Amino acid sequence: MADIEKTVIVGSGPAGWTAAIYAARANLNPLVLAGDGVNRDRMPGGQLMFTTEVENYPGFAEGIDGQKMMDVLQKQARRFGARVQNTYVTRVDFKTRPLSLWHVNDLSGDGEALVRTHSVIVSTGARANYLGLASEKHFENNGVSACAVCDGALPRFRNVPVVVVGGGDSAVEEATYLTKFASLVYLVHRRDTLRASKIMTDRALANQKISPVWNTVVEEVLGTDADGVTGVRTKNLKTGRTGVLPCRGMFAAIGHTPNTAFLKGQVALDGKNYVALQDPFRSTTSVPGVFAGGDCADPVYRQAVTAAGMGCKAALDAERWLAEQGVH
Ligand SMILES: Cc1cc2nc3c(=O)[nH]c(=O)nc-3n(C[C@H](O)[C@H](O)[C@H](O)COP(=O)(O)OP(=O)(O)OC[C@H]3O[C@@H](n4cnc5c(N)ncnc54)[C@H](O)[C@@H]3O)c2cc1C
Repeated sequence: MADIEKTVIVGSGPAGWTAAIYAARANLNPLVLAGDGVNRDRMPGGQLMFTTEVENYPGFAEGIDGQKMMDVLQKQARRFGARVQNTYVTRVDFKTRPLSLWHVNDLSGDGEALVRTHSVIVSTGARANYLGLASEKHFENNGVSACAVCDGALPRFRNVPVVVVGGGDSAVEEATYLTKFASLVYLVHRRDTLRASKIMTDRALANQKISPVWNTVVEEVLGTDADGVTGVRTKNLKTGRTGVLPCRGMFAAIGHTPNTAFLKGQVALDGKNYVALQDPFRSTTSVPGVFAGGDCADPVYRQAVTAAGMGCKAALDAERWLAEQGVH
């Protein structure tokens, strides 16, 4: 039977690498199951692999390319001895000890391999939901975004009209945030009322820079490779009429899906499938020895720096827990 790991880190975004740096420096000899890159949610390095410019992560005065940033974090974790396997966890058994995780067998490419461990740090992120249009994918990083806080201040979105799609709290928040930079924010929603809380709705609708476009969906993102987004083609669901809203950016704000399906029935999740942390100040989950950090456990902030901070907390919590169990 293979050795029992002290700690296994699932995921290799800012949360996973930060947990790996702390766990490795604490002599936990962590094994990082980094994702296998088969699709977007499984990319080693996480969501920042899909962005060109990260301007708000402390320590990079000139900003840094997302892929480069994740490469630096990985090197830092490996420097202290973190071991890395590019593979994807398919299921877990956290009801018996040691804890068991099955992952895609990265040697054979088929079947599953088993890892047994005393503790686990879950840092599998949450994917932003997009509309699913081919044109939307085409203009990603060229005018299409799913994060106003991340991208809203970029020069391309300043003093130009932009579109936010969605009607919930996050859509209203994103639209309000974007009014700091854009000349006008069209808030395109498929219904004629917003699902956001009343106070946020009232504030948004009173904002002169927010123009709601009711009963409407975006059917196509328009633009050119040289100029990026120049508009969106819309359809009114009540009248069937189509039209074009001229804009230089489109922000999808239709929610996130945490990458936690493999934890169902094993770890308590909240109503939106985020890992339910047991203590607001810690990383503890419903299973002793299983800790979580980053976007998979954070429905609110979802930023690289907050994910890294949560990864740090998870590693420190794991280290303390292992010491209490007498695992050295
Ligand atoms: C286009 C874009 C631009 C962004 N720009 C910024 C920005 O400028 N600044 C900023 O602060 N934030 C930005 N964000 C948000 C930021 O990317 C996230 O907040 C951050 O990446 C979350 O880190 P994380 O470690 O929690 O998860 P992620 O970075 O999402 O990493 C999740 C990891 O888990 C792995 N994984 C998932 N499921 C499994 C599994 N079953 N088994 C093994 N591995 C698994 C994935 O492969 C990945 O390695 C941006 C997001 C997007 C989409």
